[in-house]
Amino acid sequence: MKAWSARPVPDLPGEAPLPVVQDTRLRRRAELPRQERASLYVCGITPYDATHMGHAATYVAFDVLHRAWLDAGTPVDYVQNVTDVDDPLLERAEATGVDWRELAAEQTELFRADMSALNVLPPQHYVGATEAVGWIVPAVEQLLGRGLAYRVPGADGEPDGDVYFDVEAAGALDDDAAWVLGDVSHLTPEQMLPVFAERGGDPERPGKRHPLDPLLWRVERPGEPAWDGASLGPGRPGWHIECALIALEHLPAPFTVQGGGSDLVFPHHEMGAGHCSALTGRPMAEHFLHTGMVGLDGEKMSKSKGNLVLVSRLRAQGVEPAAVRTAILAHRYSDDWSWTDLGLAAAVARLDAWRRALAVTPAGTAAPLLATVRAALADDLDAPTALTALDDWAAGALTAGSAAECSPADAQLVRELVEARLGVVL
Ligand code: ZN
Repeated sequence: MKAWSARPVPDLPGEAPLPVVQDTRLRRRAELPRQERASLYVCGITPYDATHMGHAATYVAFDVLHRAWLDAGTPVDYVQNVTDVDDPLLERAEATGVDWRELAAEQTELFRADMSALNVLPPQHYVGATEAVGWIVPAVEQLLGRGLAYRVPGADGEPDGDVYFDVEAAGALDDDAAWVLGDVSHLTPEQMLPVFAERGGDPERPGKRHPLDPLLWRVERPGEPAWDGASLGPGRPGWHIECALIALEHLPAPFTVQGGGSDLVFPHHEMGAGHCSALTGRPMAEHFLHTGMVGLDGEKMSKSKGNLVLVSRLRAQGVEPAAVRTAILAHRYSDDWSWTDLGLAAAVARLDAWRRALAVTPAGTAAPLLATVRAALADDLDAPTALTALDDWAAGALTAGSAAECSPADAQLVRELVEARLGVVL
């Protein structure tokens, strides 16, 4: 499906280093590899409640990574999915009396408008689950044929034939790149069980070989949408196999970075890695990066609490998207943090100071600032330190600079630096 548009990225002078990043799977910091092209997959939204601040923070964080690669001279192949058919979407559509396709289309459009307003660079491939069924079906058939997946009989009036991934069989493959359960998340099975149940898994489902086996194919139920599943029968795909196949269709295996919120570490990225490894004999991604959770005023943000902060609502209230982006960048991407009015006000004040400083920029101040911002962002995308460097530069300019002696070349470089690396338009 179509993605969205963003402003072109200004070219900056000199060389930028590739960032060192905190890798969830390796459990340490790792330097990103020097490559001809980098490849990035960031898990997309299930289109309802778009775009809340947790979504926005995730896509802004990976946008900062995208921009780091571009500044280092590395083009990026970027893929993102939209889970445009899944239980939570169907449940929401049912609860609100809206057709699920309309809900998905409307929320996906809202998401595109928010991403564009936040100046997030678009993926080259923006792919809906409903567009990927044709790639998923043969992959599930392959796993079944090799004994790495199995069909489960229906119970309590449910139809036969749902297909599950066999985590133990996949983990026992004799292969250098073989994934074993826990490879990405490092959780023990005891720790996994409650999380699996909370996040869409069905550990209690009768007939499964292992409680943690995830769904690959759900055969058609009355009233539910279904697609041609060839030998699997009509149905729809599970969520983890969806992302795995969209990534395998468009990116090399392993691709450079798998990204998403920290709530995707398990089971989503764990199982996706298992699917890719079982299908290709290669790991899914070289690095796994995860963003923290965003709350509101210290509380968990959720629809049930009625405290979702939506980017579109802030925009409708007249909040400048650059201020939303700056407020997000004031936090380390990997930390959990809370959206607050104070944080937004601080971002607005920052932008105002930076803009005033551009009119009085002393000569020779832009190049050192460029070096400082690049160094900060090379250190696991440390945007808060980059913002502080801009604050210091602005304070110096506002104290010592004057309109008469403003260096337009320096002001231009600062403007381009802030846009190219932070995505903030001054
Ligand atoms: Zn995903």
